[in-house]
Amino acid sequence: MPTRHDDTSSPEAKPSLNAVRERIHTRNAGDHDFLQAVDEVFESLEPLVAQEPEWLDDALLDRICEPERQVVFRVPWTDDAGRVHVNRGFRVQFSSALGPYKGGLRFHPTVTLDTVKFLAFEQTFKNALTGLGLGSGKGGSDFDPKGKSDAEIMRFSQSFMTELWRHLGDETDVPAGDIGVGGREIGYLFGQYKRLRNRHESGVLTGKSPSWGGLDVRTQATGYGVAYFAETMMDARGGTLHSATCVVSGSGNVAIYAIEKLQAFGATVVACSDSSGSVIDPDGIDVAWLREVKEVRRERLDAYAAERPAASYRPGEGVWDVACDAAFPCATQNELGEEDARMLVANGVRCVAEGANMPCTPEAVHVFQEAGVAFAPGKAANAGGVAASGLEMRQNAARERWSFERNDEQLRALMADIHHASASAAARLGRPNDLVLGANVAGFERVAEATRALGVV
Ligand code: NDP
Repeated sequence: MPTRHDDTSSPEAKPSLNAVRERIHTRNAGDHDFLQAVDEVFESLEPLVAQEPEWLDDALLDRICEPERQVVFRVPWTDDAGRVHVNRGFRVQFSSALGPYKGGLRFHPTVTLDTVKFLAFEQTFKNALTGLGLGSGKGGSDFDPKGKSDAEIMRFSQSFMTELWRHLGDETDVPAGDIGVGGREIGYLFGQYKRLRNRHESGVLTGKSPSWGGLDVRTQATGYGVAYFAETMMDARGGTLHSATCVVSGSGNVAIYAIEKLQAFGATVVACSDSSGSVIDPDGIDVAWLREVKEVRRERLDAYAAERPAASYRPGEGVWDVACDAAFPCATQNELGEEDARMLVANGVRCVAEGANMPCTPEAVHVFQEAGVAFAPGKAANAGGVAASGLEMRQNAARERWSFERNDEQLRALMADIHHASASAAARLGRPNDLVLGANVAGFERVAEATRALGVV
């Protein structure tokens, strides 16, 4: 009898994990980032499925790897000189098994449907790990905010929302920021949503300014969360980040607040970067000045070094060659490859925590794991942003406002819970230090149980 690889409903035999993986590869051929993320999860599922093969029943894995809905749309807008431009907008609503779709919007010229699908897939497991009842989604556009005026950003954001609004709702789909989408963009997006709906549904977007419905600590949450997670991970292994020398890639939202919290712990962050180059500042990065350069003046990092006598700017270079105890990739996907990982290990790194989504290639992760470096995968380590968004949604629904300190305390506790869930799953499968395995399995079990319970929908 011929095997029917494309028949996900065949009752005859349980497919192997590999057969499911191959089917997903065939169905998504060419989606490089998405398939990389799927492969990482499937590698982690091997020991789980070996113990509990019923996870292969009823095409459950196929369903978890197929987005519930994908929206692609035209975004026309006019620049300050009156010229008309067209960009492409995306929203991938991946899973609503655990709650409304939830995940950020990215504005960057490299954004494709593949990028958004990979990010939404990662978000499925990350959101499940928070335990807050959040589904998953992600969106964005190939629009490049660099060099655009405020008025251009506003017109683009309004046009983007003029299509996206019909797919959103505080019980349906709740976007937030990501690369290129910060407080300014969330404001313009929310303003247009409010105008179109004629309703002040503050729970429809998170990452809002605290002055109109946002959460104190949401801006800091992902970066602080990465530092909290890394400290918990090191503590569990009898180490600490206090007095560690650290390097952080990027100088955006996640990077800035990771640097701030690490330095509050007593660590010294000696290098950071942007897409033009890196700075080394042996006395420790001056966060207030970095924020002024990147968030207020919106300049490149050479402007940071120009005012700091001890700092040096290295055009076109990253940070992975700088000797450190702990490294925090906080810029973008696949920014840290095998050679970078080998260099970090040779220079004595003991801890790597991913602030960005999938910043380390699979080869780099294997180098760290083989060298015994404590490795925190982004799914767990950068979940602080979405966890804070969950708190923002809760406070919006209850029309409450908690203090910065209370939110920060909750964030820290949530990061410890996520570490605990990941470490426990890893220990149960006999690899206690493998948090990649643990985060994937713990997130998978939560979303898979809900998906199964809701029937074939
Ligand atoms: P920002 O836009 O605020 O900052 C991104 C930073 O990364 C900037 O310094 C940017 O440099 C740099 N960067 C972007 N692309 C590249 C590239 N190709 N090469 C080198 N540097 C690059 O984004 P966020 O800080 O919000 O996001 C960073 C990462 O964290 C992303 O992977 C995102 O998905 C992830 N993340 C973000 C969360 C959040 O709450 N914001 C939540 C969870 C994950 P430049 O200034 O030159 O553009």
